[in-house]
Formats: sequence, structure tokens, C-alpha cells
Amino acid sequence: GHPSSETSSDTRTGFVRVRGAREHNLKNVDVEIPRDALVVFTGVSGSGKSSLAFGTLYAEAQRRYFESVAPYARRLIDQAGVPEVDAIDGLPPAVALQQHRGAPTTRSSVGSVTTIANSLRLLYSRAGSYPPNQPHLDSDAFSPNTPAGACPNCHGLGRVYEVTERSMVPDDSLTIRERAVAAWPPAWHGQNLRDILVTLGYDVDRPWRELPQKDREWILFTEEQPTVPVYAGFTPAETRRALKRKEPPSYMGTFTSARKYVLQTFATTQSALMKKRVSQYMVSGACRLCQGKRLRRESLSVTFAGLDIGELSRLPLKRVADILKPATDGTAPGAAKLAREHPEKALVAERIAKDLLGRIQVLTELGLGYLSLERSTPTLSPGELQRLRLATQVRSNLFGVVYVLDEPSAGLHPADTEALLKALDQLKGSGNSLFVVEHEVDVIRHADWVVDVGPAAGEKGGQILYSGPLEGLEAVKASQTRRYLFGAGETVPRRTPRSPKGWLRLEGVTRNNLHGLEVEFPLGVFTTVTGVSGSGKSSLVSQVLVELVAEQLGHELPEDEEEGEELERAVVLTTGGRIADGMEGIKRLVRVDQKPIGRTPRSNLATYTGLFDSVRKLFAGTKAARARRYDVGRFSFNVAKGRCETCEGEGFVSVELLFLPSVYAPCPTCHGARYNAKTLEIEYRGKNIADVLGMTVDAAHEFFAEEPQVLRSLSVLREVGLGYLRLGQPATELSGGEAQRIKLATELQRVQRGNTLYILDEPTTGLHPADVDKLMAQLDGLVESGNTVILVEHDMRVIAASDWVIDMGPGAGDEGGRVVASGTPAEVATSSASRTAPFLARVVG
Ligand code: ADP
Ligand code: ADP
Ligand code: ZN
Ligand code: ZN
Repeated sequence: GHPSSETSSDTRTGFVRVRGAREHNLKNVDVEIPRDALVVFTGVSGSGKSSLAFGTLYAEAQRRYFESVAPYARRLIDQAGVPEVDAIDGLPPAVALQQHRGAPTTRSSVGSVTTIANSLRLLYSRAGSYPPNQPHLDSDAFSPNTPAGACPNCHGLGRVYEVTERSMVPDDSLTIRERAVAAWPPAWHGQNLRDILVTLGYDVDRPWRELPQKDREWILFTEEQPTVPVYAGFTPAETRRALKRKEPPSYMGTFTSARKYVLQTFATTQSALMKKRVSQYMVSGACRLCQGKRLRRESLSVTFAGLDIGELSRLPLKRVADILKPATDGTAPGAAKLAREHPEKALVAERIAKDLLGRIQVLTELGLGYLSLERSTPTLSPGELQRLRLATQVRSNLFGVVYVLDEPSAGLHPADTEALLKALDQLKGSGNSLFVVEHEVDVIRHADWVVDVGPAAGEKGGQILYSGPLEGLEAVKASQTRRYLFGAGETVPRRTPRSPKGWLRLEGVTRNNLHGLEVEFPLGVFTTVTGVSGSGKSSLVSQVLVELVAEQLGHELPEDEEEGEELERAVVLTTGGRIADGMEGIKRLVRVDQKPIGRTPRSNLATYTGLFDSVRKLFAGTKAARARRYDVGRFSFNVAKGRCETCEGEGFVSVELLFLPSVYAPCPTCHGARYNAKTLEIEYRGKNIADVLGMTVDAAHEFFAEEPQVLRSLSVLREVGLGYLRLGQPATELSGGEAQRIKLATELQRVQRGNTLYILDEPTTGLHPADVDKLMAQLDGLVESGNTVILVEHDMRVIAASDWVIDMGPGAGDEGGRVVASGTPAEVATSSASRTAPFLARVVG
């Protein structure tokens, strides 16, 4: 039945009471959770924490909200699924601060997400210094996204994309026939343009650099598009003769200059590949009119504390706070004069600046003071983004709501955890409830109440092992969390670090906050790169190191699906730095990141790891399939033959709700099975293909016990702690950490060849300490087989267990970007300059 919201008489006041929760793997559980408290949900990955916190509590709060704002949506909500629970009493409205799960990227910035940009515009509009005689501007005029504000030259983008002779003709010793104009389209289209030039009388057989300047300019830059007869396959002499005799041409061809072709293709093509191709011939530069500040001149002439709004938006938030401070306490130069002459303006300035300062302080306390307002959100890590949103909530003055958070400590150095706890306390102090899914021991220790779910993952989990104040958990034998909070699991046994087999030396590394850095990474061992958030770990490891090694190996960097964003970066960035030494120890590069394994429900772990191919072969090999001549394609939900046509194999249809985000509802024809009825008639050992996709990795491991091909993938998936995932779980439902572990498993199932460099960015995100131990065993195995592993990591137990540590810092942004300490964990633990050292020292024991 549907959850009811009536309050029963035996409900303890101040508690949310859940009865009969059965969402996903939850075993019909009852639990009482206090309101106005910090409640942390713990348990191994896949135990059911999210199913309880997000799938049940948050989903139900959201359902009630939808129902109250849009009663007509009731039927649709039912289709979209109501959480499997008998009743929930005492549930306040909820706000979820979940980490990005394959959600589409937006073109927002730190300023827009936090709404600080709005207040800043108001500040400039109302309290800025205007040049004499300039009328006051509306706050719209300070936004590059409005016609009133946008720079007319770059349309508010800040950058202009241009082409030059050099960018389009990289080698000017070539002739046009030898493709001197590299920017022109390849194949037939390129030959066509060359033939047109022949008709027009240009010399296509002289080296480009010997052509007259006037001709070169016309060919590359003209706006004219003459249409002329083309004699395909004729030599220039034959063409001249044919023209003279007015012979009928092969066809009429229209000329397009190289610049027109490049810019037009870049602006209009639907193909990511084409876009990428032409972008190679473009150079981008800051717009000269606005200097990249994206605004019109009038808007930029207004200043505050001597800075225009573009300059202010580029500073780290910490600096912005310093600049605003004097305006809030009357210590700004000229404040007294302003207060005398324009008391109203002085008051407005003070009020807006105070509000801004308060909001910026929350961000700074959460360890985000190194960000600038103009930083675009797709360049932030999911953890940073979640903390931005959290900080925004802290100042929102909401009360009486529950905030449901997903591992807010992700990406956070222990030195910054204090601030996170303070922010959570602040939200609680304003009369809110906090339900947090978390693995970080320091956060769990801070909880008023712990709900431990387990004992294991998937079918073997889904029970409430404990619900109460932290101390009580110590007595719960079945809990895997207990060990890490109270037991010996807190410190790691001291081990002897392995000795490096060589060193990879980088020089002149320049990127973001790194300036001419020199770094040495040991080879053949397990290295962790540490440091506070924003110190430069990702810039060094995930950006520069990856790019330099890939370049040396001649790898293409992995294709990215967010073409637009990537492209902009690719055009803008130039790699600073070089590999000085050590490449002979690296034959292959594997980057295991947290990017989704796919952006549509069509990809899942079975397709990604390749194990689904083997499964489909088994189905196609059954007697029944052979009798009907069903081949492996029949069992793919991406191919028309066997899939359900209503949902085209997605299993879901999307339902658009007026004014509300669209929801996905199970397909009315196949009810989520994805296949048509005929295909589903084929069974392998009593299960059809949809049943198999519905199995967890653990269940499939038992089911396919006799099939070594399938079993190999399944075993590794279990070893990285993913036994609880269903084979068909859509990529869009997977967390970043799960996606990363699927990639790792896919890599582990390959034959180990050694001399591979593995790079991972915080692989412990979303992992219970017990699962971290399993992951460590896998990574250790890679090193034992002769590979190098480099991790960006915050988990002290992992750092303590590594062979080598490189600590970045000392602070974030401008205050970081250096190697503060490097050495064995024991050595780094004693460094006096390192902010990681004190935390590491506790664990190294
Ligand atoms: P945790 O948050 O503790 O890692 P989850 O609540 O995400 O665990 O998962 C608990 C179980 O429910 C797992 O077996 C998982 O595979 C399953 N599960 C999670 N999401 C879904 C879903 N959307 N549909 C079906 N099963 C799911
Ligand atoms: P960490 O990985 O240690 O958290 P990062 O390497 O992400 O640190 O960041 C180091 C500095 O570089 C920070 O000041 C950050 O704001 C800046 N930064 C990182 N990525 C970008 C980017 N794509 N664009 C602009 N600045 C960036
Ligand atoms: Zn401009
Ligand atoms: Zn369907």
C-alpha cells in the first residue's frame, strides 16, 4: 500500500518513524530516527544506506511535495514509483544534496550556483563608483548573459575564436595539391575546392609560401563564394583549354574560404568529431574589447574598491572577502565622506557587503576559499560542488526541513573536515534535520545518532543493525562499521615500503596553481598524492601527468562526451611541463576516473565490461534460439530485432510534467524488461535475458558458475566490492565511485603485462573502510605484477599503507601548488610543514 502520513498516537515526538521499508534490498525494516539532529547512515557499500536515506525517506518527502504542489501529477507520480514502505510518520519536507549521478552538466559558475553573483551585481549597480556623468546601471547590465551586459564583440563569452594563416596552413612548404591548406575538409570536398581554385586560375602546384600574398589571403579569408565550372580529374592545362572551348563541366562548384569553412563548421556541425577536427585549426584568445571580462565597456567602468566586477570575479573568494570587509565596518577609504554625502548609498553598500561577506565566509570555512566566482562548475569535482550547495543552504534561512546528503566529506582533506562539521551543525542549529550517508570516521563520530545498515551488501544486507547514539554501536557484533570506530581497524599495521624501480621526473609543470614545479614519481610502487582540497593534486596528477605521459606514449587522450566543454579547454590550455626522465619504465597508461561509464540508461556494467557479449552468446547458443535462428544481436536491447519497440530497449519512458522536472516511468509494454515477448521466450537454464540483467553480480556469479568466460568478469567485479550491483543497472544510476570501480574491474580482468601506469583520483569515495581494504588488496596486486600505481587520496589509512607519499600544499589555490613533503609515509608523517602530517602520524602508529 501507499505510505500514509497520519500521525499515530504512539509516535515518539521529535522522531521520524518508518515502518515496513522494502525499497531495493531493505528487508521490511522499521526504524525511528530523531528530527533536528545529525543522523549518519553507515554500512558497507550496497548495504542499503542510500535505499533508506534517498530511496525511501527523501523519495517519500519529495512525493508528498509533488502531491501538494501539483495534485494532477498524482497518477504520474504513481507510475514513477512510490517508495516501497508501509508508513512514514513525522517526516518534514526534504532537500537532497546528492552528488552528481550522471546528471547533465550545466554552464553555471560558482557565482551563479551560490547566487553570490546576483548580490554582487546588485552591489555594483547600487553602490559602485560610477565615472562622472554616467547614469546608474541596472544590475542586469553586470551580467554577461543579458543583452544589457554582454560585450558586443564576443557576445559575453569573453573569448573569441579566430583563424590565422599559421593555424590553417601549418606547413607552408607544401603546395595546395599537397594539402597546404590543412584546415580544408578532407577527401572529396577538399579536392573539389582545389579544382575550383584551378578553374579560378590559382597555381595549386607551387609551394604555399611562394604564392603572392594577395592570393593567399583571398584563398584563406575571402567572404566571396563564387560558383564556377569544375573539370574533375583535369590537369590545370586541360582545365584552361576546356574553359576556353566552353566545354560542359563535370559540375558547378561553389568556393568557400578556409576561414569561412572552419568557423561555419565549428558553429553549426552536429558531429562532435567534425567539431574537434576543425577546432585544431582555430586559435582562441581573450576578447580584446572586454579583455575576457565578458561585459560592455560601460559596465566595466563601474568599480567597487577600485576593481571592476570582472576583476573581482576572478579573485579567489578569500581575497574577495578581504576587499568587502572594509565596506561592512565603515573602515573603507572615503567611507565617512560617503556616509555624509550619500547616506543612503553608504547604507546599501554596507548591507549588501555584509550579506555577501557572510556567504563567502561559509564557503571559505568549507575549504573553498580558493575558488573564484567565475570558475565554471563542470571544472569542479562532485565533492566541491556538493559543498558549494551546502554552503548556499547554510545561509538560506530555511528551517524545519531535512537535508539528505551523500558523503559530504568526499574530496575533503581531514584538516577541512572540522569546517564541514561546523556547517552541518549550523544547519541543525537553525532547526533542521540532517540525514547523511557517510563513511568518514570523523563525521560518524560527530553524529547525534547512527543508523548502521548491513551486515553485508545486496541480498546479504538491508537490515537495520543499529539505530541510536554512537556509543551503543560498540556492542553490535554484526556491524562491520564498529571495527573501524572502536577497534583495531583504526590504525594500519606498519609495513616496509617497497623500493622504487626507477623515477619518472617532471619539470616545469605549469597548470592552474602550479608554476614551474619539479616532481619525481617513483616507479614500480604505490604512491599517494595528498594535500588539502585545492592544493593542486588533480592539476598535477589527473591533468598534467596524464597528458604528458599520454603524449609520450602517442596515445590519444580518452574521448570525452562533454565535447563542448572539453573542446573549449583543449583550445585554451597548453600543456606546461615536460618529462625529463623515466619514460622507459612506462609502456602503457590507464586512467581510472570517476566519470560516468555512459550517459544513457543504455550502458550498464554488463555492456561496459564486455561480459554481456558472452552472456548473449550463451543465449544465442541455446537450442530454442538456434531453432528460431536468433543470433547474438537478437539479445541486444540496442538492436531493433529483439528489443521492445515502445521504449526502444530502454525499459523506461520519460514523462514530461508541466513546470516540474520530467520523470521516468517504467515502459507500459515491457514493464522494464527492455525486450519484446518473443525474445523473452528464450531461456538459458530457466532464465530469460531480462532476468539475467536483473541479477546482482553475486547472484550471476552463482548462476554462471560453469561459464569461465562470464565468471572471470564477475569475479573481479566482486573483488572490487561491486557484488551488490545488478548487471543491468543503468550507468545513469551509478555513483562516480561505482563507475570508477567498474573501470578498475574492467582493467583487472585483462591479462597483466606490467610496466603500466595506473592513475586514480580518490578511488575510496563511496567506500566503507571494509571495502577500502578490498580495493587496496587489488591495487597492491597491480604493483606486485610490475606496475606503477599513483592515487590522489585523502583516506589516511590508504596513505599510510602506500610506499611513497607526495604531499602538496601547504594551502589551497595561491597558497598551495608546491610539493611540501615527499617520502615514505613514516617520513612524511614527521614533516613539520605538511598539513597532512599530523593526521598521518595518528594512523602510521
Ligand atoms: P548503499 O547506499 O549502502 O551503498 P544502496 O542503497 O545503494 O546501498 O543499495 C542497496 C541495494 O539495492 C544494492 O543491492 C543495490 O544494487 C540495490 N539498488 C540500488 N539502487 C537500485 C535501483 N535503482 N534499482 C534496484 N536496485 C537498486
Ligand atoms: P586539488 O586536486 O588538490 O583539490 P586542484 O588541482 O583541483 O586541487 O586545484 C588547484 C587550484 O587550481 C585551485 O586553485 C583550483 O581552483 C584551480 N583549478 C583547478 N582546476 C581548474 C580549472 N579547470 N580551471 C581553473 N582553475 C582550476
Ligand atoms: Zn568581449
Ligand atoms: Zn519497453
